[in-house]
Amino acid sequence: MSDKPRTFPLPLSSVTDKGQKKPSVLPTVATPQTATRNAAQSTQPWRPQPAAVPVRQHVPERPQPAAPRQFALVSEGVRRAMVARVAKQGVQDPVVLGALETVPRHMFMDEGLAAQAYIDASLPIGHQQTISQPYIVARMIEAMRQGNDLKRVLEIGTGCGYQAAVLSCVAQEVYSIERIKPLHELAKANLRPLRIANLRLHYGDGMLGLPQAAPFDGIILAAAGLEVPRALLEQLAIGGRLVAPVGERTQHLELVTRVAKSEWVRQTLEDCHFVPLRPGTV
Ligand code: SAH
Repeated sequence: MSDKPRTFPLPLSSVTDKGQKKPSVLPTVATPQTATRNAAQSTQPWRPQPAAVPVRQHVPERPQPAAPRQFALVSEGVRRAMVARVAKQGVQDPVVLGALETVPRHMFMDEGLAAQAYIDASLPIGHQQTISQPYIVARMIEAMRQGNDLKRVLEIGTGCGYQAAVLSCVAQEVYSIERIKPLHELAKANLRPLRIANLRLHYGDGMLGLPQAAPFDGIILAAAGLEVPRALLEQLAIGGRLVAPVGERTQHLELVTRVAKSEWVRQTLEDCHFVPLRPGTV
């Protein structure tokens, strides 16, 4: 894969696992908050919304009224500014930064929150869950990539689908699992207009991984467990890397590299705040 980030829309098929084979305005609040606190703010179930303001890359499946041009430009400008802030915080991988610049984050959020889409914060998406903070998304993908092209990647915790879309720009094939059915549906609805051909969404318990698609060159967990589930370690390719938040009240990012069939090397990265990893489906 070249170092040039892809732009949306990507070549189309579907974003779901059917049959297994399967305006932004400037932010008013600029306070970074934790995922768990923000998740708790949302008591209303989140309903899929059409994109608040379509951006230029967005090609809807059905004809829609043209978006006012100035909104598209504002949206791109604030997204670029967000990426610059993420880079300032230490993310260096140009492929990851390019992916962050490509994905229209406001399309993954409730209309009422779209104005805050490009601040560097996690925000509620309903069901006590959050869309991850752009910095942490970038940091985790950078740690997983380590400058290498990735073939097959698994994400645990699709949520609204934002990180999955970012991953689709940096890996050849992306699989993402969500345990909350309405969020799985929400992600499908959010991702459909982006027409991402190399992304498959699954509804299920991500703690079990996705054995039918394993091994993975990279695995990212978007929810924190007390430890990394064994099944996920087993589904990592030799040489593959897994990045996960680990802990309960205090959490840190863990980078695990599978160096041999029965050998994994762990590294502790920075502190973080994620919603909990939970077993089963709802
Ligand atoms: N990736 C999202 C972040 C979603 S928040 C983004 O791009 O912003 C974390 C998600 O992990 C929640 O939607 C939660 O329901 C999900 N989750 C928690 N435990 C899970 C499990 N065992 N399997 C799959 N998803 C899980």
